[in-house]
Amino acid sequence: MKTQEKIICNCCKKVILERNGIPKAEYLHVEKQWGYFSGKDGEKQEFDLCEECYDMWIGSFQIPIKTQEVTELI
Ligand SMILES: [Zn+2]
Repeated sequence: MKTQEKIICNCCKKVILERNGIPKAEYLHVEKQWGYFSGKDGEKQEFDLCEECYDMWIGSFQIPIKTQEVTELI
């Protein structure tokens, strides 16, 4: 969840980003605009997850997510 000064994990309420946009940790930001074939036509949703909650989330998947080694760091 984005507030003016910080990003808060929607799942556990941990503060991810502190003032002036300096990242204290990595996080996942998801934005989804649902379309006609969904039950949420025209709704835009967004949320942010800290790394711990992300790990818990993907840990619940039936099929493991694809992971690749990236040598070139952005
Ligand atoms: Zn969290």
